[in-house]
Amino acid sequence: MEDLKQIFAQTKKAFDLPEGMIYLDGNSLGPMTHASRARLIDELDNQWSKKLIKGWNESGWYLLPQVVGDKIANLIGASKGTVTTADNTSINVHKVLSAALSLNPERRVVLSDSGNFPTDLYVAQGIIAKLNETADVPYELKVVTPETVLDAIDEDIAVVMVTQVDYCTGRLHDMEKIVEKAKQLGVKTILDLCHSGGALDVQVEKLDVDFAVGCGYKYFNGGPGAPAFVYVKSSLINDIQPVLTGWMGHDSPFAFDAQYTPMQGIGRMRVGTPSVLGLTCLDAALDVWEGVSLAQVRQRSLELSQLFIDEVAVRCPDLKLATPLNPDERGSQVSFHFDEAYALVQALIARGVIGDFRMPNVARFGITPLYLDEQDIIQAAEHLEDVIKTRSWDCPEFKTKNAVT
Ligand SMILES: *Cc1c(COP(=O)(O)O)cnc(C)c1O
Repeated sequence: MEDLKQIFAQTKKAFDLPEGMIYLDGNSLGPMTHASRARLIDELDNQWSKKLIKGWNESGWYLLPQVVGDKIANLIGASKGTVTTADNTSINVHKVLSAALSLNPERRVVLSDSGNFPTDLYVAQGIIAKLNETADVPYELKVVTPETVLDAIDEDIAVVMVTQVDYCTGRLHDMEKIVEKAKQLGVKTILDLCHSGGALDVQVEKLDVDFAVGCGYKYFNGGPGAPAFVYVKSSLINDIQPVLTGWMGHDSPFAFDAQYTPMQGIGRMRVGTPSVLGLTCLDAALDVWEGVSLAQVRQRSLELSQLFIDEVAVRCPDLKLATPLNPDERGSQVSFHFDEAYALVQALIARGVIGDFRMPNVARFGITPLYLDEQDIIQAAEHLEDVIKTRSWDCPEFKTKNAVT
């Protein structure tokens, strides 16, 4: 325990957090590291401005999608060469869902759940609408409740696509059971790691999931709009005919061949020119993981989450816990139902305690041990108690919704 506290006292120093702010929103946008700032300044002052186009070779830009992909692979239990950074999560869901459906051409059903993040469902709807323009037997998206995903897996399902940790409530899927049953029945599996990569000790290879995607700007702290990543099980990579075909996924981009030939390996999941400045920030932010394991992060996250749940239960009986109480059933966030959750969160933000609001009445707090400790958690609970006791949330300025909640 003391060892862990020391490790996390060190990692906290890597972050540039505003004085006095308690940041409980790293599950939505990770804070900036000092390393990202230094790296970005170097990229601007010494690479882009001085080297210009030579930077693609001399500053390592061309190799960066794979270099950063390999770093992320190491953090999600994947081998080198099975993960690449690319695009954003929605686009990567397009790529892997299209690939998974082509690997199961006799089947027509995509299974997902109502706790999935809407963009994943939107992508499925778009792909299915396109396929149904020409399909003899129509494709369908079957959306069940999170609790019934396992039961709903059968031999009609082509692909089961779930997000491991529910973005709203923090509920954690039992992925071992889902993947095991899917494998037995010939169902392809897609795992969205947006709320678990960098928060849980994810082991995609041990789990034997076929595809995974995730984003760079949440628990990996890559900065707003940081590139996302995509994992493909190594035995499948070269069987995939990419649906988004572009030169950066070509076998030989600088041959300028008129015919598309996919690159061997995970590189075929890339499409166009990578966002280099975003990648450099993400690359530097990942240095913070050098002295800490995901198992340690998970252990600490559960300790801090439990502390927050216990403190809030005593101080704020009006708040109803939306997150499972059993630690094995939750990710790294704690959410509460409250009728005026939006105003509540705004009142907290005004005091420097940053959480966020999700429809219809959820106040959500991310627990990120890399830069949070017991003192932060207790102070946040004290503010929460005060805001509720004094009803300071109950004023018009906290009730007007911003575009981003
Ligand atoms: C945050 C998040 C996304 C974000 O997708 P982008 O395309 O990167 O905006 C997708 N899926 C889940 C589950 C998320 O939590």
